[in-house]
Amino acid sequence: MSRAMSELAGTISRRRFLVRTASAAVAAAAAGVIGAPHVARAKAPFTLPPLPYADDALQPTISATTMGFHYGKHHKGYLDNLNKLLADTPDLAELGLEELIKTTAVNPNRVAIFNNAAQVWNHTFYWQSMRPKGGGKPSGPLLQRIEADFGGWDPFVAEFSKAALTQFGSGWAWLVVDGGKLKAVKTSNADTPIVQGKPPLITIDVWEHAYYLDYQNRRGDYIKAWLETVVNWDFAAEQLSRVKA
Ligand code: MN
Repeated sequence: MSRAMSELAGTISRRRFLVRTASAAVAAAAAGVIGAPHVARAKAPFTLPPLPYADDALQPTISATTMGFHYGKHHKGYLDNLNKLLADTPDLAELGLEELIKTTAVNPNRVAIFNNAAQVWNHTFYWQSMRPKGGGKPSGPLLQRIEADFGGWDPFVAEFSKAALTQFGSGWAWLVVDGGKLKAVKTSNADTPIVQGKPPLITIDVWEHAYYLDYQNRRGDYIKAWLETVVNWDFAAEQLSRVKA
């Protein structure tokens, strides 16, 4: 690991520690909300969290070009739109990101704010769901839970891949905790399982902008490579450890 990357990793883990011990994060965890902790407490105007790795770190599975557009244009675009919308909505501008997502999810007049806020959250969670030299099988309690709840490792891979492949149009596939069981689910557009009280452990972005430059129409190849080479099971295990039994 380069010195810059080491320093970045140190900064992120220190920030995670500080946030995790803060009362707001404890309250959020008690409410079953997990993930993306470094944006959970921030208020508008929101800032773009740094990528947890260099933009070429996931090559060849995800090219630096895809990462540059995806993070620098798409994720930043959602964030900029959200801040613009909140500048005209002072009643919502005091909410943290997760609270904002839950509040606007049930208000049809706030769909633009919901879409941009949820996409900011989802992308932050997606970057953390990947790492260089990731992929393959997890170990320990996470693997045991996956094998117990899906009936084995191969059935998990099949179900998660199917959720990601069959999401019609834009959206996301997730490994979530639902009613005490791990499940593979999909959501459309900006929708996110945190509004359904299903804590996510991992997500894959299946919007075309996530893979089209590298895989064109071959979404299945992207999903397969993602599971084999970049999925971050350490992050998933960390999320699972925060979910109350
Ligand atoms: Mn995306």
